[in-house]
Amino acid sequence: MAERTPWSLSGALRGMFAKKLIDAETWEDLEDALIQADFGPSITEAIVADLRAKVAKYNTTDPTDLQRMLREGLEERLSKLDSTLNLSARPAVVLVVGVNGVGKTTTIGKFAKFLRTYNRSVLIGAADTFRAAAVEQLATWAERAGADIVRPQAHGQDPASVAFQTVERAMKDGTEIVIIDTAGRLQTKGGLMDELTKIRKVIEKQTPIAEVLLVLDATTGQNGLAQAEAFIQHAGVTGLVLTKLDGSAKGGFVLAVQEKTGIPIKLVGQGEGINDLTGFTPHVFAQKLVG
Ligand code: GDP
Repeated sequence: MAERTPWSLSGALRGMFAKKLIDAETWEDLEDALIQADFGPSITEAIVADLRAKVAKYNTTDPTDLQRMLREGLEERLSKLDSTLNLSARPAVVLVVGVNGVGKTTTIGKFAKFLRTYNRSVLIGAADTFRAAAVEQLATWAERAGADIVRPQAHGQDPASVAFQTVERAMKDGTEIVIIDTAGRLQTKGGLMDELTKIRKVIEKQTPIAEVLLVLDATTGQNGLAQAEAFIQHAGVTGLVLTKLDGSAKGGFVLAVQEKTGIPIKLVGQGEGINDLTGFTPHVFAQKLVG
């Protein structure tokens, strides 16, 4: 995967860490950088207070100590939730939810490829049955990834019946991982949540659901999170996928989204290509964020 880290804080912090000593301006610069990066006021305040306490405790005036403490502190905060995908069940059923346009279809394609790389057999269920174009796009991604797909037999077929048929086929064929695409029409929020509830009930009668992944466009920051609120409230989300981190995303959103929702980030998309999806590793992220 190409190394694109536009969300890194390193540019904003460079001047600060280039100084010889930590001074009053250092703290102001740090606070500004964190606010600019979308950490939000309360997390920014907590991080700065924590760092001030550490700097006092270790009695240091060296900005590189501050940089290390910031990196370690962020890693610790990011590690509070477990980012491991829970895919040990057979089949492991993964429901993918989110608002249209966030990158759901692309993510499913990339995720299928990611799993195929580890030799897992994958079956995709196209349960967004009202968007014919979305079904076709998903089928193209499935083919590229080397995964099979169950399509609706008719336009607008009951999404829950597509989900049922997908899981049924996976159980019969011994397929290891099932990924179910779902609708993301924001206009019909109530109907959409009922539809998701029905899909979940139908699947749970066959086998437990391993993961419900909510896809969020990282470039939309707090707005995107507000739009996805209904999913967080009603869809039983177990993990987040942040897409478009190669775009104008701000690094602080990554921590803010975990702390606000209490849901771990499990996958990260950094490009439109089929290989541009990775797991989420707090250590690597904190390292790239702070430098
Ligand atoms: P859906 O409506 O949620 O299914 O969204 P799509 O999967 O069709 O994606 C919407 C747009 O976002 C497409 O142009 C994708 O190529 C793009 N996209 C998805 N993920 C990423 C990503 O990680 N980085 C970038 N730069 N673009 C992405």
